[in-house]
Amino acid sequence: MTLRLYNTLTRQKEEFKPLDPANVRMYVCGPTVYDFAHIGNARPVIVFDVLYRLLRHLYGENHVTYVRNITDVDDKINARALRDFPNLPLNDAIAKVTEKTANQFQADVKALGCLEPTVQPRATDNIDGMKEMISTLIKNGHAYEAAGEVLFNVAAMRDYGKLSGRKLEDQQAGARVAVEAHKKNPGDFVLWKLSSADEPGWDSPWGRGRPGWHIECSAMSSRYLGEVFDIHGGGLDLIFPHHENEIAQSRCCFGTDVMAKVWMHNGFLQVEGKKMSKSDGNFVTINELLGTESFGGQRWSGYVLRMAMLATHYTQPIDWTIRSLEQFASELTSIGKTLSVASVGSHSTFYSGILPTPNTKVLEMLLDDLNTPGAIAEVRNLHNSARDGNVAASVDLLHTCEFLGLLRGDRLGALYPFHVRTGPKMASTAVNRLLDRLQVSFLNSDQVEVESVTKQLLDHGTIATILPTGSVTYEVHDEKGFDRSKVVRLIEDRLVARHAKNWKESDRIRDELDAMGIAIKDHKDGTTSWEVKR
Ligand code: AMP
Ligand code: ZN
Repeated sequence: MTLRLYNTLTRQKEEFKPLDPANVRMYVCGPTVYDFAHIGNARPVIVFDVLYRLLRHLYGENHVTYVRNITDVDDKINARALRDFPNLPLNDAIAKVTEKTANQFQADVKALGCLEPTVQPRATDNIDGMKEMISTLIKNGHAYEAAGEVLFNVAAMRDYGKLSGRKLEDQQAGARVAVEAHKKNPGDFVLWKLSSADEPGWDSPWGRGRPGWHIECSAMSSRYLGEVFDIHGGGLDLIFPHHENEIAQSRCCFGTDVMAKVWMHNGFLQVEGKKMSKSDGNFVTINELLGTESFGGQRWSGYVLRMAMLATHYTQPIDWTIRSLEQFASELTSIGKTLSVASVGSHSTFYSGILPTPNTKVLEMLLDDLNTPGAIAEVRNLHNSARDGNVAASVDLLHTCEFLGLLRGDRLGALYPFHVRTGPKMASTAVNRLLDRLQVSFLNSDQVEVESVTKQLLDHGTIATILPTGSVTYEVHDEKGFDRSKVVRLIEDRLVARHAKNWKESDRIRDELDAMGIAIKDHKDGTTSWEVKR
């Protein structure tokens, strides 16, 4: 099994050979946390999540280190803090902006089916490492102080510009030299700049200041992955200047030939044929797609968004359209339905905790520079066999979808909602709509929304409970006064016992419920509903 990846540095597809197969190391540039992440930002997160999953499959779960940073020091963050919290001291305002945005980002990408990276370092926790690197660069003649800044001296690096293919002479030609007279070369970039009293800053040998953007990633990647590591990724727009400058800093600081062996870049996403821009009104955040009815008048499941992302090869541009989302939503629902009917939910790797193994042909596609559209074509073939009643194909399909992060077998019920909702027949339209929302927010792992909708249901006198499978059971409140939370806990315990094939325990729990006046019913998809016996 050979993994081949396109390397921006060498401009060709190459066989991937890790520096150390016992610790394969990957770094991906993460978000600057000043505002909601838009759907374009989700692309590198999803693409490199698939690569992370593939590397774990090839080298073992505990033999891959994936680092994705959080940039929490940036002039855009300062501006946002001043705008949103004008009455707070700046540092407190900044902390509020970054904490809220970072939490939102984590919730968004979780809903997109992404695994957590091994480490998510924050820039502000790594200022010392940055200062050390800057000192070394000054000492070895690669950086200099001028007009309140420490600048990297591009002319002192023999092969600056290798990644982007830009030559120093080209950059000099059109540059506005007059504006930046303190620079030795117009291509010189900031490593450290002084902060005014009302800007965030850290003490340093060059005065109280803050780091430039590029040095953050050099410091964080070397701290967690070493001076040279395997893969560095990000969007196409980062090749120049960000990645070029990361390479310059790290190589000149550590005296190495490369920073990372393989450099990978995802193409751009545009919306309905146009570049995403706030003023054109086609700018859409991950959160809006998941949480409101803004794009095509619908809320979309994170899994649908993920499938839409993976249906195009990562190096190509994507056109993000409502039509394609509708197509993927119906396709995923259909897969969920096939798996429900085949009753293979209990094979979900979410019960065993074992990494899912993808179908061989899907794996072959991924090994060829992450050919995800090819992988999805194979998923469709597999779905056809599963639909013909082939149980082995159904299990293979389930594990493959779980491997790709396209669904959770333990929540099949939520993909196929009306099959598993139980409660009084005559719920009002308002209650029904809230129950829909409850199921969707559970599927999207949106805990805040789950709690808010649960409260709204209570206002309608309706107590709703979500079982671990994603099924919703509800009851209209009456004065009978039995211990509802006990019922739910017993049903969950019984589900766990059934998944472990512990029939004795599952029967015992059924009897206990029966004695409490609760009748239960097991459904084909592995879920259980209950009602008070009349
Ligand atoms: P930023 O916060 O702008 O630095 O972007 C974070 C990540 O998202 C970077 O890897 C960018 O290259 C990537 N990115 C930003 N906009 C898009 C887009 N429209 N399509 C694909 N990737 C994008
Ligand atoms: Zn970076």
